[in-house]
Amino acid sequence: MKDISGLFGLQYPIVQGGMIWCSGWELAAAVSNAGGLGTIGSGSMYPDVLRDQIRKCKAATDRPFAVNLPLIYPQVADHIQIILEEKVPVVITSAGNPKLYAETFKSAGCKLIHVVSSSKFAIKAQEAGCDAVVAEGFEAGGHNGREETTTLCLIPQVVDAVTIPVIAAGGIADGRSMLAAFALGAQGVQMGSRFVACIESSAHEAFKQAVIAAKEGDTHLTLKEITPVRLLNNPFADQVRLAYHNGATNDELKALLGRGRAKKGMFEGDMIDGELEIGQVSARLDNIYSAKQIIDQTMVEFKTAFQKMSL
Ligand code: NDP
Repeated sequence: MKDISGLFGLQYPIVQGGMIWCSGWELAAAVSNAGGLGTIGSGSMYPDVLRDQIRKCKAATDRPFAVNLPLIYPQVADHIQIILEEKVPVVITSAGNPKLYAETFKSAGCKLIHVVSSSKFAIKAQEAGCDAVVAEGFEAGGHNGREETTTLCLIPQVVDAVTIPVIAAGGIADGRSMLAAFALGAQGVQMGSRFVACIESSAHEAFKQAVIAAKEGDTHLTLKEITPVRLLNNPFADQVRLAYHNGATNDELKALLGRGRAKKGMFEGDMIDGELEIGQVSARLDNIYSAKQIIDQTMVEFKTAFQKMSL
């Protein structure tokens, strides 16, 4: 099986998405110990918190792990310094231009993956020197591309556009969807929502329960004028819809969003006023498992689905 395992020293070509407020060291270490690439989501962490999380992760696993670094983070320079000092093996950048930092990471021996939502940005990431790209389709939770390109359309285009490995994301939560991504040419998958509803995730229990209760059509991509984000339906999402209906300006939308809504919803468990970021695939999740169970089940399903298709 051609995949990213060799490149990043993994047992399985499964990357855990770096979801703010949900992916601390416990989840990252559990995924890495189970053979995937665990990721600490640094977007919700102040620099001293990030350093502490990295150290705890290093103490809990001797396998490779990653830090997700949203490049729009206000103290990105501090985070980069910590990542280098702590010798983090893999960095996954998102929401910005990796070219500005690629040389810094690569000269420190740190592997670099960038998250893209189009072939155009995949090519730019390759030119910048990234080792791989995560190509994330419209189905994905959290921050998302404006073009609404679905995973089914995005992955083959990105695979044809670049020579570096492509890790598919958006709508992938099990072995069947992983196999579909491989059929499209991906060499690995990234799963986010599946690992939100995971025992080791730092998401609030109420959010985990809401994720496994979600049904088809319960998420929507919104706030494109500010930063596109896929949210689970709740009273806050209704308020956003109403604001659009009433012709809200960008400033009014920003004021409605305010500050710290994601923390309120996903970390503190406020299911009314909080922002609940999750992917469409939440409709397919109905249980909270450990990271090891998720990875083991995914690989069994992947092989079973492959055998069925080969008959
Ligand atoms: P807000 O501006 O609404 O709130 C900032 C939140 O981030 C607060 O809850 C704050 O915690 C925390 N925080 C951590 N470090 C800092 C810092 N240095 N300065 C200010 N706040 C900090 O932003 P969001 O919660 O919507 O997003 C936070 C970050 O996560 C952004 O960098 C964003 O790009 C990223 N993000 C990434 C997503 C993805 O899909 N990759 C999805 C959504 C967000 P406290 O309340 O304790 O002060």
